[in-house]
Amino acid sequence: MWPVKLKERALLACARRCCVCHRFCGRNIELHHIVMESKGGTSSFENCIPLCYDCHAEAGHYNPLHPKGTKYSSSELRNHRDNWYQAVDKLIYLELEWKSKRNKTVKQIYEDQVITLKGFVWREAFPGPPNYESFETDEIETYWMLVLPEPVTFYTNCIETEQTIEVRNVKKLQLCVSSDFYKTNKNIVRTNVELTGTLFASLTGHHHGDANFKIKS
Ligand SMILES: [Zn+2]
Repeated sequence: MWPVKLKERALLACARRCCVCHRFCGRNIELHHIVMESKGGTSSFENCIPLCYDCHAEAGHYNPLHPKGTKYSSSELRNHRDNWYQAVDKLIYLELEWKSKRNKTVKQIYEDQVITLKGFVWREAFPGPPNYESFETDEIETYWMLVLPEPVTFYTNCIETEQTIEVRNVKKLQLCVSSDFYKTNKNIVRTNVELTGTLFASLTGHHHGDANFKIKS
């Protein structure tokens, strides 16, 4: 059993999101012993990783007599956890920053305007096909988001009415990049970067940010 205080500390540190796949779990979050109790692992903060039901099952089940797939090592789990706790810290910090900057003059960005933005790169999982509704029944889609240190206002043209629409309080941009970009830039996830590109509005179920950011090659 996990001590109550430790449990609370771990749940706050992960923001009730799984440390491996980062989905929000709410009540369904589970605390896993990185080194199993039967192998001498203690119920300590250091030996604890909050996981979703699926990742918990994955982390726990591995048959050395019939190896299938790639085992989660204890050091990998620790790294996932430490990276995630850091990312949560960073995002909570950004939330506070946003609040303090709410009344300041905001940057205004127009569609098709080439712009360089600073932000924190974040990988986020969403329910994918067929229904885009639930992690239980749908496939999982993962996207890279750029979280801005201060909100911006974005102006876009409505295709039907040709009127300009103002989108305020844009804080999270979904990155639109080539598949090569993901491969060659893995190291930018959970870091602060500067990216150049153009913004366009979120239109379909595949768009999860306040706007989309098409990165120039
Ligand atoms: Zn998970």
